[in-house]
Amino acid sequence: MLSVEAARQQMLNTIPVLPSERRGILECADYVLAEELSAAENIPPFDNSAMDGYAVRAADVQNASQENPAALSVVETIAAGYAPTNQVREGEAARIMTGAMMPAGADAVVMQEVTREENSELKIFEGVKKYENVRFTGESVKVGAVVMGKGKHLRPPEVSMLASLNCAEVLVHRKPTVAIVSTGDELTPLGASLEPGKIRDSNRYGLYAQVEEAGGIPIDMGIARDDAAETERIFRVALSEADALITSGGVSVGEHDIVKNVLEKLGKINFWRVAMKPGKPQAYGIADGKPIFGLPGNPVSSLVVFELFVRPALLKMAGHRALLRPTFKAVLSESITNRDGRVNYMRAILKASDGQYTAETTGPQGSGILHSLVLANGLITIPAGVTLDAGETVDAQFLF
Ligand code: AMP
Ligand code: MG
Repeated sequence: MLSVEAARQQMLNTIPVLPSERRGILECADYVLAEELSAAENIPPFDNSAMDGYAVRAADVQNASQENPAALSVVETIAAGYAPTNQVREGEAARIMTGAMMPAGADAVVMQEVTREENSELKIFEGVKKYENVRFTGESVKVGAVVMGKGKHLRPPEVSMLASLNCAEVLVHRKPTVAIVSTGDELTPLGASLEPGKIRDSNRYGLYAQVEEAGGIPIDMGIARDDAAETERIFRVALSEADALITSGGVSVGEHDIVKNVLEKLGKINFWRVAMKPGKPQAYGIADGKPIFGLPGNPVSSLVVFELFVRPALLKMAGHRALLRPTFKAVLSESITNRDGRVNYMRAILKASDGQYTAETTGPQGSGILHSLVLANGLITIPAGVTLDAGETVDAQFLF
């Protein structure tokens, strides 16, 4: 059996990064940059005040104190958005607002709180150092500097930066469209009454939400019955419409697990028994350059395999460089035995307390017990065949 790491690496090596497209700045958040951006302008574009106060020559006020204030005459008021019209000469000051352009001659700003102005006579009760409270041309970004490289995830600060660089459009990677198909004769859509032997189709909805959370664009393809012709038809339509296909169910060894045969007709598929619990049987392959993920049917397995395999793959397609959620150590609140020869990804409540994380499992952990995930905010990794006591540490990661 393949280890999770080996299977994931093997899979990720074959995942294509999607081509790029130009998007407007208001439609680019959460996309990944496909070009390098350098600054065509300085930020800020001119020396300006970091405070509301008075632009002065620092030398004029260096000895100012409460008892012995400096006295200056005010030559003008400079508001943000306007250029000064006067120089500041010895013995002079200009009233200046935050972000307003520094007047020639001045080399510092005294904050308003340590001044008093009466009839253009300004008293200053505290000195300033040269350049204090001044923001210099290009101190944030210098013209010509590379500001963001390929692969940069465009979060809100990056969008703000694009605007300050005057980039109304950027080249980003496309986000993957992902078709989702549930398989199984037992599956009943929402709203219909449950006949004997039938269950609700829950995977399709959970996977839809997971694709969105991973930054993909889900396409709901409904339910395929356990019928080879119908399943093949739906899978083919799905592949023609999307960049990737996710199926759930039918990849195990049961008599009606026909998904395997159908997938084999579509492309080159590996049927994997990955040494993990939940989620041992799964399929991964490529058809017409498009990834196909055959997830197990059990609801917990489907969600967990998505999280550990499909999510990183979708991130790679979208151009991301960091594909895995960070892991960290958590201290077990209980003793856990894993008799299995497979790593157990247990659903847990992770809490920060006293400078460390603690982990507590969420009750029964069967692969059909969806509630174990509903209660969880993370996964902990229990290696094969070990007993860990309360107080020992495990690898943990947050989910969602
Ligand atoms: P399978 O891999 O198709 O044998 O399915 C394994 C288990 O998962 C069975 O108990 C199925 O009824 C259940 N299952 C399969 N697909 C779904 C689904 N879409 N929603 C909820 N349970 C499912
Ligand atoms: Mg089935």
